[in-house]
Amino acid sequence: MMSNLQRDTLCVQAGYTPKTGESRIPQICQSTTFFYGDTQQMADLFDLKAEGFFYTRLANPTVEALEKRVAALEGGAYGIGCASGMSAILLTAMTLCRAGDNIVCASEVYGGTFNLFGTTLPKLGVECRMFDVDDPKEKIASLVDDKTRFIYAETVANPVVAVLDFEKLSSIAKENKLLFIVDNTLATPILCRPGELGANIVIHSTSKYIDGHAAALGGMIVDIANFDYKGNPRYPDFNTPDESYHGLVYADEKVPFGTKCRAQMIRDTGAIMSPQNAFLTYLGCDTLALRMERHCSNAKKVAAFLNSHPKIEWVRHPSLEHDRYHALAKKYLPMGTGGMMSFGIRGDAHDCARFMEHLKLITQETHVADVRSCVLHPASTTHRQLSDEDLKKAGIPANLVRLSVGIENPDDIIADLTQALAEV
Ligand SMILES: *Cc1c(COP(=O)(O)O)cnc(C)c1O
Repeated sequence: MMSNLQRDTLCVQAGYTPKTGESRIPQICQSTTFFYGDTQQMADLFDLKAEGFFYTRLANPTVEALEKRVAALEGGAYGIGCASGMSAILLTAMTLCRAGDNIVCASEVYGGTFNLFGTTLPKLGVECRMFDVDDPKEKIASLVDDKTRFIYAETVANPVVAVLDFEKLSSIAKENKLLFIVDNTLATPILCRPGELGANIVIHSTSKYIDGHAAALGGMIVDIANFDYKGNPRYPDFNTPDESYHGLVYADEKVPFGTKCRAQMIRDTGAIMSPQNAFLTYLGCDTLALRMERHCSNAKKVAAFLNSHPKIEWVRHPSLEHDRYHALAKKYLPMGTGGMMSFGIRGDAHDCARFMEHLKLITQETHVADVRSCVLHPASTTHRQLSDEDLKKAGIPANLVRLSVGIENPDDIIADLTQALAEV
């Protein structure tokens, strides 16, 4: 393929190139195992001396097509398709941490990530130190010590739509020779490439915009391969032979993190993407660039509409000039920040429920970032156990409605919001 292709071209061209007479798009390779004629060929595969497939728990041709596509979109060196976004995050942490280590993580992250880092990993002896994305650099930097293994944040935080200050976090990582890991799910590589802004590893829940159709669960880890592990005392497991892999030293590999993650953690956990889901996600990804353009332009119109509506108390979307992340969004995501926003209805949880029940086109869902517009009222669903006081502390007032703007005609979305707000 030609080099230096633009991202909208990569969306449809990267990942798989057929040889003469082969299918134009990757086929669903529905096989657990692969045939080899002689023992030496198999031995070379196991020694990582030759490339090829031997067992679908480690790698599969359909999954590889998607891995290559997303890696190309991120400008990275290597992708690993995982069973879900959450498994991608877990595998990344397991590749880097052991009991006694710690991680430094933004508290404005996806709820599942917050639970994994805040509750589950501590039970395994990995401590999580949370910071507020708006904290000054010195305060965040003071959390780092010699047991810290990575800094973690989201490009566009779910659900609070905070835009990451890349400069602030990547400079802390660089000064401490520390990995900087970014979850780029809600921005997608179309709107932002974290690897060009200092990130070393990029993570996706492909279940969101990359699939885009709410059809397939999946996750992706992209190793940008721009970090030097050699002799770095933070990463002894990269600098000493892995006895569970015939003495391989990962720091000597071309893609140290990706190789270690697959050879150890994918092997040991089996949390790999299925060929069927990789196929669906690959098809969805064909239109990613087009869809993101429409999500952004629709969200901008909807945010402006809500912002001027008398029954709306406040709107959070970085396209609005008053938004606290407007300047960061302009700097790092000039095309837009995607379709996610939140707003407060003048009234209480009861008024929100009334509004939601009267929506006709926009549906209530525990999902975001697909082609169809959907809403969620956290106070009566995901956060319903919390008191009004606790909701406020969590930054989720009782009147907050989360809206994921789809790619429908923007006039239809606005018309539906208008008629439902009239019922409040
Ligand atoms: C949904 C989501 C995840 C988790 O992904 P799953 O595919 O649902 O496991 C992780 N990070 C972000 C930002 C998400 O929106």
